[in-house]
Amino acid sequence: MDLFLYNTLTRQKEKFEPYHENEVKMYTCGPTVYWTQHIGNMFAYICADVFKRTLTFAGYHVNHVMGITDVGHLVSDDDTGEDKMEKGARNEGISAWDLAKKYTDQFFADTKSLNIIKPPITCKATDYIQEQIDAVKTLEEKGFTYKTSDGIYFDSIKDPTYGELAKLDIEGLCAGERVEMAEKKCKTDFALWKFSPKNEQRQMEWDSPWGVGFPGWHIECSSFCLSQFGEQVDIHTGGIDHIPVHHTNEIAQNKGITGHRVVKYWLHNNFLVRADGKKLSKSSGDKVFLQDYIEKGYDPLAVRYLALTAHYRTPIKFSEDLVKMAQTALERLNEKVVGLKKDAPAPTKTKETNKWLDELKTVLFDDFNTAQAMTVLRDAINDSSLSSEEKLYITYEADRVFGLDLGKEKTIEIPEKVKMMAGQRLIARQQQNWALSDIIRDQIDEAGFVIKDTANGYELKEK
Ligand SMILES: [Zn+2]
Repeated sequence: MDLFLYNTLTRQKEKFEPYHENEVKMYTCGPTVYWTQHIGNMFAYICADVFKRTLTFAGYHVNHVMGITDVGHLVSDDDTGEDKMEKGARNEGISAWDLAKKYTDQFFADTKSLNIIKPPITCKATDYIQEQIDAVKTLEEKGFTYKTSDGIYFDSIKDPTYGELAKLDIEGLCAGERVEMAEKKCKTDFALWKFSPKNEQRQMEWDSPWGVGFPGWHIECSSFCLSQFGEQVDIHTGGIDHIPVHHTNEIAQNKGITGHRVVKYWLHNNFLVRADGKKLSKSSGDKVFLQDYIEKGYDPLAVRYLALTAHYRTPIKFSEDLVKMAQTALERLNEKVVGLKKDAPAPTKTKETNKWLDELKTVLFDDFNTAQAMTVLRDAINDSSLSSEEKLYITYEADRVFGLDLGKEKTIEIPEKVKMMAGQRLIARQQQNWALSDIIRDQIDEAGFVIKDTANGYELKEK
């Protein structure tokens, strides 16, 4: 079955045809590791994970690479302001290297909680300095650069297709607004290599043919892609906020270096927004970190579930109440699947299951419509003409894409105090002291557990 995806470059849904049959090279811009990633950023990684899982489900072998920005991302997109890493390190009183490690570890802990499959290759900008210098050298040799007092810049007017991804009017952008441009020739020009400030000792800086300094933010992603994949990349993912600057500049660099288009399909996810449509923000009291939800006892997979309930190209409403509702919905779905497992230990593939899988593929291969795919799964589970074995087979296949651990029974930690109360209640029952047995049952209930009498004694469950 053909797969169609929406390519930001052409603003059209296109049939997916990778450079090499059955093989997909996919790149995702990773985090700038100066702080804990906002839940809105984590959404971009859930989307990339769903793209990858869907492509795998479709039978492709997916090579996935993610970049980690541990140097060169300045506070402002205009190539001004401090490096986010140097600033973060100073604020926390640790080295920029330790800061990078701390937040890289935090990021991968969060992606693990969200069942995001870790890309087999992750590239750190500080490990690719030579590759970035070589890329800038190539651009220099081909006449795409110029030098200012603070760095080497990409001359965007030299690229006749500059801004094609964001449909930028480069002529308009290059005229006027000289004040904001400083020494830049055009507003859309961007730093490829920045010199270390003369009166400041940076923690992260390297020698280069142009002087001591550090790479610009955009050149790292081009360097990762070209060194890991060569000159043909099938899919590049990221949030829509990257369209006008970061990805636009990556395209210009790639074309400048190779002389042709490198990435075939650009996939961009929309944002998580508050109920009133505004951006989530910590200052408005929103819980913006995954850890905030985990600490309050939410299952991080409820966040993943919520992310799957709308199309990735539309703004997705997000709030604590919605996470709560998603958690309830996920628990109900999971209970049904656990019930199916008890009924039917062996999932079974039949002619009927093939029909349902085709249905799933039809919606998933139509630009990753997870919301409709979840409806298909729910319909299958509720279809009385299917056996439990068949339902289980469909569920497990769908969950290869959803990544919700459906059917996994949660192992709950029962506190010692509750176990002791259950033991005392058992003794009370054996002594036919029903009044005491009822009192203890209420106490267990207050502690958040439900006790059920069984032939062998009792069973404890979380309320
Ligand atoms: Zn990037």
